Amino acid sequence: MTTREAPAATGRYSRQELFAGIGPEGQARIRAAHAVVVGCGALGSALAEMMARAGVGRLTVIDRDYVEESNLQRQSLFDESDARRGMPKAVAAESKLRAINSDVRVRGMVADLSTENADELLARAQIVLDGTDNFEARFLINDVCVRDDIPWVYGACVGAYGLALLVRPRVSPCLRCVLEEMPAPGSGPTCDTAGVVAPIVHVVAGLQAGEALKVLAGRLESLLPGVVSVDLWQGVFEVMDLRGRAPWCPACTEGRYDYAVQGAAGASAVLCGRDAIQIRAPRGTRVDLAALAARLAVAGSVSANEYLVRFVGKDAELVVFADGRAIVKGVRDPTQARGVYARYVGS
Ligand SMILES: [Zn+2]
Repeated sequence: MTTREAPAATGRYSRQELFAGIGPEGQARIRAAHAVVVGCGALGSALAEMMARAGVGRLTVIDRDYVEESNLQRQSLFDESDARRGMPKAVAAESKLRAINSDVRVRGMVADLSTENADELLARAQIVLDGTDNFEARFLINDVCVRDDIPWVYGACVGAYGLALLVRPRVSPCLRCVLEEMPAPGSGPTCDTAGVVAPIVHVVAGLQAGEALKVLAGRLESLLPGVVSVDLWQGVFEVMDLRGRAPWCPACTEGRYDYAVQGAAGASAVLCGRDAIQIRAPRGTRVDLAALAARLAVAGSVSANEYLVRFVGKDAELVVFADGRAIVKGVRDPTQARGVYARYVGS
């Protein structure tokens, strides 16, 4: 006869183990899992913190941006010192998450998820959580995850409105099944035009993290039936039931993963909520940041840390990362951004 231990009433994960929806078996599965959070802004901060506190075995956080003061209103992993030092979000997040839970193997990746690195960065994840702010990244995540059979959870918010959807490859409709085509840039409201409040971020991240924990704990019977939408100011809470709707799209039915094909992504991307454009550099680029800082110092004010150089000149403001990526601020046109990059960094 085997004796089963009662769930411990004390211990780090006791409250989660006592919860019937997870239990000790579910907790053991969560503990063995690797979760990847893509994008560590508002949603990503909340998602990564919940995954770390829940005790996943491994947690990878990928982000391409750095912390600024205007992030602090809603991006809960960061503080004034991160903004003052212009820390990359992935680096600041890694150190906060390690302090929150030293049991979790946390890895912060200062990188822009692209067709060139997505296979590598998302491989071996048991769940991928969307903390991004753009459809280019989400369609890439969708196609890689559907192709590689990794469940992922879409999340988005603007103003006081938000959406969440769990995608189980070939079991439930994916993002392309639901949206059909990537929405054109500028076709919807963004945090730039409509702002965003922190409460909706936490509601949406809570929905995403809840679905993630059910998947990781193996409690598939408890999954929500489709797209959840919430408007906190209007007081509207809706679930669009997608049960019974078979996955049907080029990715799910024809195995065409168009957005995961290398070279599919453009050389630049507009950063939501930042009035800024990111310029990508070819894979394998390494920039000597100290030399760049010295070179730029004659043309304007420069501050640097071991991850990036920030430059404010008469006509331009930009941040250059060690992999050659740059964020050009105060521009809305990619050509203009490329011009600034060529002028100060080189083409
Ligand atoms: Zn699909």
